[in-house]
Amino acid sequence: MSGLWGVVMVTEEVWKKFLEIISNETNPVSFATWFANIKLLEATDEKIAIEVPMTIHKNMLGDNYYNLIEDTFNKLTGKTFDIEFYLEGEFKKNSVQNIIENTIDDVITSNGAQETFVSNLQPNLNFDNFVVGDTNRFAKTAALAVAESPGKIYNPLFIYGKSGLGKTHLMHAIGNYISQHSNLKVLYTTSDDFRNDFTGIANLNDYENSLDYANNFKNKYRNVDVLIIDDIQYLVGAEKTQQEFFHTFNELHRNNKQIIISSDRSPEDLKLLQERLRSRFTWGLPVDIFPPDFNLRCLILKDKMKNFSWADKVSEEAIEYIASNCDGDVRALEGTLNRLAAMIAMNVPSKITLELAIDYLKDYLSKNIYTNNQISSVQKAVADYYNLTVDILKSKKRSANIAYPRQIAMYLCRLLTDESFPRIGLEFGNRDHSTVIHACDKIESDLKDNKQLQEIINEIKEKL
Ligand code: ADP
Ligand code: MG
Repeated sequence: MSGLWGVVMVTEEVWKKFLEIISNETNPVSFATWFANIKLLEATDEKIAIEVPMTIHKNMLGDNYYNLIEDTFNKLTGKTFDIEFYLEGEFKKNSVQNIIENTIDDVITSNGAQETFVSNLQPNLNFDNFVVGDTNRFAKTAALAVAESPGKIYNPLFIYGKSGLGKTHLMHAIGNYISQHSNLKVLYTTSDDFRNDFTGIANLNDYENSLDYANNFKNKYRNVDVLIIDDIQYLVGAEKTQQEFFHTFNELHRNNKQIIISSDRSPEDLKLLQERLRSRFTWGLPVDIFPPDFNLRCLILKDKMKNFSWADKVSEEAIEYIASNCDGDVRALEGTLNRLAAMIAMNVPSKITLELAIDYLKDYLSKNIYTNNQISSVQKAVADYYNLTVDILKSKKRSANIAYPRQIAMYLCRLLTDESFPRIGLEFGNRDHSTVIHACDKIESDLKDNKQLQEIINEIKEKL
């Protein structure tokens, strides 16, 4: 094998020993049937490709004998490999794209000159200007803990929550902190960029160029001490990229390199992501950020106002007015504050009273419906349909005429709003996420043979 394939861990000699051990571990018939005619195609430091005579071998070796094969290689090399089986010709016949995707892990790590390293960190997003309240305290604490000892405590750190709640801010804060306090190499990226980078390899027609590109790709994402990857939910549907990320993750994790991931939902709720990825996301510490409560919204507003010369002219009531009208996310708060600033800039008043704030912001706030998140609109629609109040729907009352509409509402929230189970639970009187899951399962199964329920649900949906 050429040097192109890097450090070959499993040599022909290891392969012979492997077959020897297997022949001792299996009975002669099994050995003759399943192992006598298999060949070593390729071995890299992560994968072993084996050629088998028939499809049935793929199934047998892949299902029944996989552990034995894996363990045997492990005994011989001390490593755990991904083992893949190919029919004759299948491996070679792969398109450039597949070859690259199958071998990207195997390309020799470049020993050439390093390109200047770009961390993508935004210096203005740091811990100092991340305002803390009850809804994000846990996330901030965990983030700081990771920043102080990267790779040592929570790996991966998985931050999740709705958009606009400060996930990206926190991730940059961690990265900046680490960069300032150590020489560690930190890379911030989004799952979109990771994906574009990766699929870029496949778009190169020229094989040599593809390999160079693959090499650079691998260097970029695996030769770091801290990998921050934002909005992982966008890997849904990108199977090959998920696979590549899986290997990147493993490599970094094995070497105690810190991985920080964000997502708009919890690992359990990332339904469409490969199970092996999802389970890895729970290895370290998953932390959620909730929408800021009133107190935190006021604190954030005050903190952000510090940047304006008129900050001390704003009355407490004006701040509270804005805070109570933007109950969604921090981005909405910032938008409103910027609007206020634009109005004030035209003619700086001596005092920014409640009346003035209302006047300045009334058009803006009525156009941008920041109050009433999606969950509350669903709750309202269901409550209206059943002639209940939203408060009763969210209450602890268990009588069927309330409990069933409540389950319908939970189901619709899940269906229509893309909110996580815990978040929905929280909005329904702080119920556990398992209650929400149960409600969704129940309504889904009732829907199968209950025409009337189907109609009710359609009617509510239309109203929404
Ligand atoms: P996400 O990544 O969760 O969608 P961002 O991190 O992009 O949200 O936050 C949206 C905006 O709100 C950013 O400008 C960010 O700086 C700001 N922000 C979010 N949370 C806070 C906070 N606790 N303190 C100060 N600013 C915040
Ligand atoms: Mg973000």
